[in-house]
Amino acid sequence: MNSQNQSASGSPLQTSREEAPEDQSSTHVTHVREDVAMAGRCANVHLPTGRTCTLPARHPGSCNFVGPEETENAAVH
Ligand SMILES: [Zn+2]
Repeated sequence: MNSQNQSASGSPLQTSREEAPEDQSSTHVTHVREDVAMAGRCANVHLPTGRTCTLPARHPGSCNFVGPEETENAAVH
């Protein structure tokens, strides 16, 4: 009999995820707010936090997600 796979609990020796760049998450969990995008902003929404990037569209580097109030200021009204 084969013993069952040793599953779970033990943390593997992978690279610990400490403050990974936002670029990685932007590929799989993002959405774009149209009203913010129309203002010429990046407008990526970080779904887990509900925050929005208000940096200029196609800005270099990673997104800077801000809260609802700042997002409203950046959005087209
Ligand atoms: Zn951005």
